[in-house]
Amino acid sequence: LRVLVTGANGYIAQHILSTFLSAGHSVRGVVRSQSKVTQISTTFSPFVSSGQLDFALVPDISVPNAFDSALLSAPPFDVVLHTASPFNYRANSSPAEFLDPAIKGTTSILQSIARVAPSVRRVVVTSSMAAVIDFIGSPRFTNPPKTYTESDWNPITLESALAPDASLNVIYQTSKTFAEKSAWQFMEQKRPGFDLVVLNPPMVYGPLFDPAVVRDPKTDLGESVHGIYQNTLAPGLAEDSPLAPTGLHLYVDVRDLAQAHLLAATVPEAAGKRFVVCAGELTAQKIANIMRDTTPAALRGRIPRGEPEKENMPEGAFTASSGRAKEVLGLEFRDAKETIGDLAAQLAQIVQKE
Ligand code: NDP
Repeated sequence: LRVLVTGANGYIAQHILSTFLSAGHSVRGVVRSQSKVTQISTTFSPFVSSGQLDFALVPDISVPNAFDSALLSAPPFDVVLHTASPFNYRANSSPAEFLDPAIKGTTSILQSIARVAPSVRRVVVTSSMAAVIDFIGSPRFTNPPKTYTESDWNPITLESALAPDASLNVIYQTSKTFAEKSAWQFMEQKRPGFDLVVLNPPMVYGPLFDPAVVRDPKTDLGESVHGIYQNTLAPGLAEDSPLAPTGLHLYVDVRDLAQAHLLAATVPEAAGKRFVVCAGELTAQKIANIMRDTTPAALRGRIPRGEPEKENMPEGAFTASSGRAKEVLGLEFRDAKETIGDLAAQLAQIVQKE
């Protein structure tokens, strides 16, 4: 397949690139600056040299026709994976910085595909459980616990992101919910010649594809991995520091999510569906426990101990079902020990260089 991947330098997208390239597909990565091309070309240099991977620059994904020239290719594209979307709370702060690239970026690429790339038969959008879970209106604990599925939608409104006291979480959730909604709306209204598949992952954890590019963990890590760094290995933490509370207690391994993108791109029955892609529950305490078990002794004293025996969510916490992803895509999931253990080893090395 000839595949276009937006946000190609991202944490998740690098694993997607690796998965598609290893499966023999030809990939064009879209990034927004030349420095990102240079960085990712180094990471994937054998594939760049062989011509299996090339790049296109799209400096601003929210303007109309932004993707037109990136979508022109010989051979032409069969599949587009749209992963680019702001999920960095250190680099973005205003509603517009999240909402515009997320929502307009999504409609812009769908419009461009319909107009200039008639060979594309499938588009996969990386959405989020942020577009599924009702974080504000529904309690986290109920009896019996709620199980989120693909039929749930976060009922958040655009106004909630524009309120003066809106948190970055609320703004991000709004951006993902309305980006996904606009994708389904586009499909319904325009009935283009391609089909749409949407993936809805919760927190994505697991190893960095190329840890060598992380010079400063404070600025160079994606939001989800930065959260783990911040809560376990950041300067100033000690064994007896309070452990940060669990944010969203559901996770998936980045490698399994990359595999989900490959399956979403290739399994015919995936057409027209969204997929919850969730391995299970994972608390801040369990992350800290696995980090403490797997990092070198010299660093262990930096990781807040918390209450190690309380690593499971209290009863009644909402959960999510990946039944559809297992049945339709045949997806399997790594356990948290492997996911966090593999990341811990890399973060330890990064921190020891600090
Ligand atoms: P990263 O921050 O590592 O990657 C995000 C990618 O999107 C980068 O290529 C980034 O480019 C690009 N991007 C960000 N803002 C813009 C913008 N304004 N204009 C153009 N491109 C932009 O994030 P992840 O890999 O974690 O996330 C990838 C996707 O997965 C996103 O859609 C995110 O919402 C989704 N997701 C992530 C989860 C997680 O836990 N990590 C959970 C659920 C969904 P640049 O480097 O130039 O900023």
